[in-house]
Amino acid sequence: MNTTNKKQLLSIIIPCYNEEEVIELFYEKLKLCLMTLDNTEFDYEIIFVNDGSKDQTLQKLQGLAIRDSSVKYISFSRNFGKESAMLAALEYTSADCVVIMDADLQHPPELIPQMLSLYEQGYDQVIAKRSRTGDSKRSTFFARLYYKIVNKAVDVQMVDGAGDFRLLSRPAVNAVISLKETNRFSKGIFSWIGFKQTYIEYENQVRVSGETKWSFKRLLSYGIDGIMSFNVQPLRICLYAGGILLTISILYLIYLFISILINGIDVPGYFTTVLLISILSGVQLISLGVIGEYVGRIYAEVKKRPAYIVQESNIKGEAAVNNDK
Ligand code: UDP
Ligand code: MG
Repeated sequence: MNTTNKKQLLSIIIPCYNEEEVIELFYEKLKLCLMTLDNTEFDYEIIFVNDGSKDQTLQKLQGLAIRDSSVKYISFSRNFGKESAMLAALEYTSADCVVIMDADLQHPPELIPQMLSLYEQGYDQVIAKRSRTGDSKRSTFFARLYYKIVNKAVDVQMVDGAGDFRLLSRPAVNAVISLKETNRFSKGIFSWIGFKQTYIEYENQVRVSGETKWSFKRLLSYGIDGIMSFNVQPLRICLYAGGILLTISILYLIYLFISILINGIDVPGYFTTVLLISILSGVQLISLGVIGEYVGRIYAEVKKRPAYIVQESNIKGEAAVNNDK
C-alpha cells in the first residue's frame, strides 16, 4: 500500500458479529468519508473482523473484498468477542494509525478526518466520546453509577461515553498489543497505556439495523471484568468487611459475657444466633466468590490460550505468524 512517497497508512478496524444487514450500508458510508482523504497524506485500508458470525456477514465481506482491494478481512473460527476481534486487527495491521469503529453506524465515519487532523497535531489517542442523548434514563443512570464506582475502585480512569471508537497512533497500537492478557478489558487497557490523548464529542446514534449484542447478562459480566481486571481492590474490600465484622462480633461477645456475669444466663438467643450466622456466612460467601473470580482469571491466563483463532483471511502471510502465538 505504501507505494507513494511518505504517504501514511490509516487502517479502519471494524469488528463484526452478525452484521449482515448493515455491513454494506456501513461500507458505503465509510467509503464516502474515506474518499475525502484522496488528496491528503493518507492511504487507507479497511479491516473487517468477522467474529464468528452465524449469518451471511462473512460472505458479504468476501464480496466487498473482491470489489475493493482496500478491503481486508479476518474471519474467526467462532465468536471470540469484540475485544479479541479488535486485538486481531491491531496485530495484523502495519498501519501508521488506526481507527476502531462499530459496524452498526453508531460511530459516525464523518469524524475520521477530524481525528486525523488531531493525529497530525501529535495526539496518540483521539477518543470519540458520545453524548448520552436518546439513551433511556435507566441506562444513563446505571452507566453514570457504574463509572463512579469503577473510577473509585480501579487505578485507571475511565470516561463515560468514551468507548472503543478512537484513533490510535502506531506507538499506542504497539502498547495495546504488548499487553498479552487473555481476558481483555479494552476500555481499561486504552486508558492504562496512557499517551497524549484528546476527546471529540459526537451525538449518540441509534443502531441502523440488526440488534445490540449486549444482553443484561453480558453487560453485568463486562462490568465485573472492568473492576477485576485492573487491580485487587475487591479482595481488599472483603478483607476490610471481614475485619469490621469480626471486630463487631468480638465486641458483642464481650458484651454478652459481661451481661451474663451480671444478669446470669439469658433466654437462649435464637434471634442473635441466626442473625450472626447469616451475616457471617454471607460475607464469607461473597469473599469466596471474589477470590474465585480472581482464581478463575489466573486460570485463564495461565493456560495462555490465544485470544482468537483465525480461520481465514485475505491478509497474506501474517495469519500463520499470529495464529501460533
Ligand atoms: N461485536 C463483535 N463480537 C461480539 C459482539 C459484538 O465483534 O461478540 C461487534 C459488533 O458487530 C459491533 C460492535 O462489536 O460492530 C459493537 O456491538 P454492539 O453494537 O452490539 O454493541 P453496542 O453498540 O450496543 O454497545
Ligand atoms: Mg452498537
